[in-house]
Order: sequence, then structure tokens, then C-alpha cells
Amino acid sequence: MERNIKKLVILGSTGSVGTQTLDIVRAFPDCFEVIGLCNGFNTPLFKVQLDEFKPKYFSTLGDIESGYGGAKAAPAEEIVAMPEVDIVVAATVGCVGMPASISALKAGKTLGLANKEVIVMSGNLLIETAREGGATILPIDSEPSAIWQCLEGEVSEPSRLIITASGGAFRDRTWASLDDVTPDQALKHPTWTMGAKITIDSATLMNKAFEVIESRWLFEIPFEQIDVTIHRQSIVHSMVEFADGTLKAQLGPTSMGQPIQHALFYPSRKPNSDLPKLDAVTMGSLTFEEMDQSLYPCFELALEYGKRSGTYSAALAGADEGAVELFLNGKIKFTQIPDLVSETLAAHTSIADPSIDDTIEAARWATETTLARHNHSTILS
Ligand code: MG
Repeated sequence: MERNIKKLVILGSTGSVGTQTLDIVRAFPDCFEVIGLCNGFNTPLFKVQLDEFKPKYFSTLGDIESGYGGAKAAPAEEIVAMPEVDIVVAATVGCVGMPASISALKAGKTLGLANKEVIVMSGNLLIETAREGGATILPIDSEPSAIWQCLEGEVSEPSRLIITASGGAFRDRTWASLDDVTPDQALKHPTWTMGAKITIDSATLMNKAFEVIESRWLFEIPFEQIDVTIHRQSIVHSMVEFADGTLKAQLGPTSMGQPIQHALFYPSRKPNSDLPKLDAVTMGSLTFEEMDQSLYPCFELALEYGKRSGTYSAALAGADEGAVELFLNGKIKFTQIPDLVSETLAAHTSIADPSIDDTIEAARWATETTLARHNHSTILS
């Protein structure tokens, strides 16, 4: 039945969440039609995707002629707003996903949000834009997805959100001992396989602070009612506490397949034999520990600025993007990431009551300032 087919656009289709979204689409050929695919520079894989899914439109930073495989080239902001589009999956990485995400919300689309920097940059503006556009934001990030699933069907407000954190690649080391760790070491996440930027953000716990900020806006709950707990097994993806003391937890395998599929099929659930299953008997012990915030300077720093109004949180996302790029390219030490982010934020002039464009500009400024600050200090030393 034609009317049951969801028409989909994926932003960042060649990345980790993008390819896993297409895995779900491939598993349910009668349920989805890919209207548009958008990517950055991974042209070989993008061409394979265009050949297989035959979208009507594509957008790329790579070199592909309009008309390739019958698909028309168009700006991502226009593709997501096409009248036939039902759901847009923002699987992009970093601040680059903002303009198309905003365009989708203005056009009243359902936005499956994996690209958390977009909501970190300007959570209140994103929620406001969704409300004005009659759009819906569905979380794909596993922790906010878990909170959302715990809240489904509840009529009472939660009293507390408890976000779980694996602790990242260096969870058993002190910050001071991380001076000489290499990008390869930082890219070895203990439980999840993800893209490079988010894996480094997981090692610094910047990612966890971003999830706190993301949850504050998505679930419209004060920061004071959000906690983070170290949970090494990454099986409980987050928990919600209610006024009567009841705690609801959402459990699942360490697979992005389930949160992606939940957003795509919401509100129904479908069997998918491709996805890993969790067995209660063999999953082993689940442990929960208090997080020692002093071990993770990025976490404290990010929350300090993420709580401020103006363009500070946009600058935070932009500065982190610059610092992670420098680390991945071997230009700075792992332990310099918070120092660089902190220096950029200290130099930031925040704009009160910013527009979306102001937040995009603040993020861009912060990325460039962070990259330039490093180059400058290298020349001086
Ligand atoms: Mg997450």
C-alpha cells in the first residue's frame, strides 16, 4: 500500500549512522523509499549507494555530475524540504548538519536526529523551529533514544534522567597519564563502533556532556535533573526516574540498529533478523558507578558553557570540532583538547538572543579560531 511507504532523506549517508540507516531500509524494501541522499567526500561509497537506492535527488561535496544514476543534484536544504519527504535522518557529523536540519524542521518534517552537535549548538532555537514548523524531532543517539522510550506512554513528568556512560577508551586511566596517547589508541572504544569524531568525544567524555545538553532540550528538563552514571557494559542505554521512585531503564545490544529502526518505524516495532539480540541470561553482570567528573575536564568545561545562553554552546561545539581535528591529525596531544577548547571559549564574544545564522557563525568562528590558535602557538614556540 503506497500510503504506508515512508519517504526518506539521509544527511551524511556514507557515515556510520548513515550506512546503518540504509541497512534498515534495505531490510524493509516495502516500507521505505529513499528520496534523497547527501554526503561529504566519500564519493566511491556514495556512488554505490546512488546505484543501489536510486534516489530522486542527491547532494555531495564530492565530484558527481547531476543526473548520475537518474538522480538530480540539488542543495541538501532543498532536498529535505521537498513536499513528498516524510522523514529526514540527520546522520551528519559536526556543525555542518545544521542548515539542512533547520530546513527540514521549517518544512514540518520528522527529523531523526543522530547529529547531536546540531542540538548542542542551539537547543532552544531547534526546539522552537520544530514547534513553529509543526515538525517532530526523534532522537537516534542511543542514550536520548533510551530516555524517549522510557517516557513513551507516561503522562507524568520524569523527576530525573540518568544517562549512562561507558567511560570511553581511557576509563581506567587518570587524565594526567593520557599525555602520550595516540589517535589510534583513542579510537579504540571499549563497547561501541562509531565514527572518528564521536569516538574521540567519547574518550574525552565531551560526547557525554553533549548528550546531557541534548537531553536537556529534547525532553525540556532542567540540567539539575540530569545525572550521568558510569555503566561499563553499555547495555542499559539510559534510565528515567519518576516521582514515586520508580526507575525505568531501556536495555539493548550495543548496536545503533535498534535506535535507528525505532525512529524510522515509530510508533510501531518490526522484527529484523539482521539486528543483534540481547539475552538476559548470558549478558552477565551490569554495574553502575559514580562518575568522577574531575577525571574528565572536557565534561565539566562543556557543561559550564552548555548551560549558558547566547552563542556559547555553538562555540563549544565548533571549538571541540577544531580540537578533535587537530588531535586526529597528530598536531596536538590528547590532553590539549580541553585546553584549546577552553581558550577559544574564553575568547568568544557571545551574542544575546542569537538567530540560527548567529549560532552557525559562532561555531564556524570557534572551529577556525581553535585551528588557528594551534598554528599560531606552533610558530611562536
Ligand atoms: Mg550516544
